[in-house]
Amino acid sequence: MRRFGLFLIFGLSLLFAAEIRDGTLYLEINLAASPELVFEGTAFDLSEDDRLFQNSYSGKVRISVVSPESDNRYGLIERVESTAGYVESEAVSHSYFAWEDEKLLIKHEHWFFLPDSFRDLAQAQAYASSLNYPYSRIQSIPIVNSTLLVIDASGESAYYESPLKLSSQGQIWLNGLPYEGEFVLKIRNGKLVLNQLLPLEEYIAGVVPNEIGNNSPPEALKAQAVAARSHAVSLLLYNRHTKDGYDLCSSTHCQVYKGKHLRNAQIVDAVMQTAGEIMTVAGKVADATYHSSCGGKTDSSQAIWKGAYVPHLSGSTCIPEADEYDLSTQRGASSWLNSKPDASGMSSWEQATMSWERTVSKAQVAKNIGLNSIRSIEILERGRSGRILKLRFIGDRTIVLDGEYKIRQAFGKLPSSFFVFKAAPGKTLFQPGSAITIKGRGSGHGVGMCQVGALRQARTGLDYTQILQTYYPETEINTDWIDDERP
Ligand SMILES: [Zn+2]
Ligand SMILES: [Zn+2]
Repeated sequence: MRRFGLFLIFGLSLLFAAEIRDGTLYLEINLAASPELVFEGTAFDLSEDDRLFQNSYSGKVRISVVSPESDNRYGLIERVESTAGYVESEAVSHSYFAWEDEKLLIKHEHWFFLPDSFRDLAQAQAYASSLNYPYSRIQSIPIVNSTLLVIDASGESAYYESPLKLSSQGQIWLNGLPYEGEFVLKIRNGKLVLNQLLPLEEYIAGVVPNEIGNNSPPEALKAQAVAARSHAVSLLLYNRHTKDGYDLCSSTHCQVYKGKHLRNAQIVDAVMQTAGEIMTVAGKVADATYHSSCGGKTDSSQAIWKGAYVPHLSGSTCIPEADEYDLSTQRGASSWLNSKPDASGMSSWEQATMSWERTVSKAQVAKNIGLNSIRSIEILERGRSGRILKLRFIGDRTIVLDGEYKIRQAFGKLPSSFFVFKAAPGKTLFQPGSAITIKGRGSGHGVGMCQVGALRQARTGLDYTQILQTYYPETEINTDWIDDERP
């Protein structure tokens, strides 16, 4: 146990930059998090939060945390105050997203910590237990005055105190991709965190082409823009990355964002023509999860993720012919998988999701699930999209896999769990040979909008609101959902 003076967390401006400026939502999107970062730019400025120390750079810079091990401490929150306006100097201000009165707002509160802090989480937990505090009161304490070392292209070095602002007049290049505008550098959990600070619509324009492709028909792009915007708002409400020091990550965990990579005039039009539009249902934002290809019908979020029943994510028909089959039965799933749906107008990646085959060695499957041998595999349950939800392996032990994702992983990252065993017409594959061949359809979890279906519908002339109605029934488009009034 080590006490530290309150000066360590004194007067914190955390640069939690999600904010609403004149009705526009600005977000911090994470681009990188590691003990050291290297990036390149034509002309950019680095400045400390108070702007007392600022330098201009061009070319390559290498930034590292000087003593990462001392930059992570856990403390116990003694009390929380949510008084707006007045900030106690010894408190840590904390912001989070909430949905109230049919609007998204950013709430602010102040955390007051007990004086003891710990470098080790286990020690903090033991301390919390001794005081009868729940573990939820343990928070990583953001420490100001962490030192960053910046080495420029000529080898010149400079020390800064985090957090830093980075503003670029041109582009900065990170991992082979260009980004421009405003950035924030801070330290979280001993790592240097680089975030881009940008308006929601800029973020959506960086997501759409990377999620559905930049050559898609305009109405499919618009549907994707509204889905991505609604999904982003749902993700913000989970506050899942607050502890990491940003609002959303830029990978599939949240949504894939790559700055202006793949952006073209069509993408910008689709985003601008749907600017501010999200889907709501009964006064709440509709979670608009989406996936690559359902394979005929979409599945229900309840079946796939074992959550509550969500009416607008309860499953839809994507390809009308699929309605003739009950895909939750082995017979229906198998007949539909052996049929050939119309593929006219589809690009090669779309077609590839409609029929695929994988052969995987039995030994590898056994290894993936921790068995020594496999005697039989039995399909126990399928969802309405045909995705296998429960599968039993009998070998030296019996293992039941519950969940489409686990099943896909067991056979080596299958595109989807909608498949049949090529060697067995029924539910059970007895005594598989040395290799197991699987015939399948679809790609992804199968919940919400199907991108291949959205593309097909756009080609047949449906507009984006009709496309969204197919996959998110009962939702409405709403543009008045940002609370700009409350502090
Ligand atoms: Zn994420
Ligand atoms: Zn589909």
